[in-house]
Amino acid sequence: MTDYKARTQGSGALFERARKVLPSGITHDARYLDPYSIHVAKAKGPRKWDVDGNEYVDYFGGHGAMLLGHSHPAVIDAVKRQMDLGTHYGSSHELEVRWAELVCELIPSAEKVRFTASGTEASHMAIRLARAYTGKDKIVRFIGHFHGWHDNVAAGATSNYDGSSVPGVVQSVTDLSILMPTDDVGATVKLLESRDDIAAVMFEPSGASWGQVPLPPGFVQAIRDVTAKRGVVMLMDEVITGFRWSSGGAQKALGITPDLCILAKIVAGGLPGGAVAGKREILDQIDHAASAAKKRDKIAHPGTYNANPLSAAAAVTALSLVRDEDLAEKANKTAAELRAALRQVLIEESVPWGVYGDSSAFLIYPNPTGEDVNPATFDPLKLGFAKLKGAKSGALTGKIRMGLMSHGVDIMGAPGGFVSATHGGAEIEKTVHALRQTVRALKA
Ligand code: PLP
Repeated sequence: MTDYKARTQGSGALFERARKVLPSGITHDARYLDPYSIHVAKAKGPRKWDVDGNEYVDYFGGHGAMLLGHSHPAVIDAVKRQMDLGTHYGSSHELEVRWAELVCELIPSAEKVRFTASGTEASHMAIRLARAYTGKDKIVRFIGHFHGWHDNVAAGATSNYDGSSVPGVVQSVTDLSILMPTDDVGATVKLLESRDDIAAVMFEPSGASWGQVPLPPGFVQAIRDVTAKRGVVMLMDEVITGFRWSSGGAQKALGITPDLCILAKIVAGGLPGGAVAGKREILDQIDHAASAAKKRDKIAHPGTYNANPLSAAAAVTALSLVRDEDLAEKANKTAAELRAALRQVLIEESVPWGVYGDSSAFLIYPNPTGEDVNPATFDPLKLGFAKLKGAKSGALTGKIRMGLMSHGVDIMGAPGGFVSATHGGAEIEKTVHALRQTVRALKA
């Protein structure tokens, strides 16, 4: 810790100012770090630098938004060009049309799309659309699946949710969600077959929090089958997985098309933005002419920064590159190499932890509770839902993160992170070295 504070004095000074004006001195809960987080001065490709000049291999990746790596030259050029033309119009513009065309081209379920300013807003609107479309109130969600921070999805957003109420969220709103575990899809199927008040089934196709608690095989197909049969909206949260799990998101990778999906992060090319996309007839509830033709009230959807031109400029460039250069595949391949290399460190150092991850995500499980874990064969699904909760939490998590940071690698608190299309052999090598040193220090 003394070491950390000595190396990051500039960040420490900024934190002292920040804590006076920002709750916890931060602006997003996931950026919280004890004693304080680094303050980043610049980022390029797979690397970033803090205000003290320390360099890090970055696996935060802008909370998963930066599939193209930081400051991609084509994205920066597009945003600069747009800056000269205006930062915000409050009017329709060509880039939003091109952006929507690209989303509809890439995402299998996207017949129409409506842009929002964030994933949370997209999540909120998608639930409203599903309720209005079905005329039902209840939403089936899964424990640990995160869909943003609005009231409808606040309860159950972490895997250790114990059923208690959420401060500031009225209980009647929380009660509109039915929270299910993911290790028994049969229970969800039975629930949907026995009730007539369910508007949507909403889930992360990666499993909870980008795969920290993966979904059992067959889960998504079972949900697709029962929702189709029962006229319930299947709502896939592709905020993380969209354009990452494949160029067409998890739905393309799985070959299973939802009725509705939400997108954010990569969809806006590293600038703020989100989207709801899906079946025309569901999206048409926001459409003036379609609503008038059906003699029903249109669902209102304002939003000052919807399809902001700077975001649209970044998005059109980024999504064109995702389409033309197979960037998701490239990142997936590097992440698979990284996971194998990290697993090898654990094997060589005889550490009973696990490494797992799908697509371009990786996760370290430092605490597989009560299991005699062999890193060579570790499979989070075999641990079971209850044990998984403990496997990725605990005091070790913070120590691993700080250990890696002291060797120039910054991961998310999971512990884990996202690989971009710009990460490569040099980043893997540095991460392997950092994990080895961290493990050895923890053993000492
Ligand atoms: N859904 C998922 C799966 C997410 O990971 C997130 C954010 O991390 C959200 C929704 C909310 O998106 P935003 O942070 O843009 O509001």
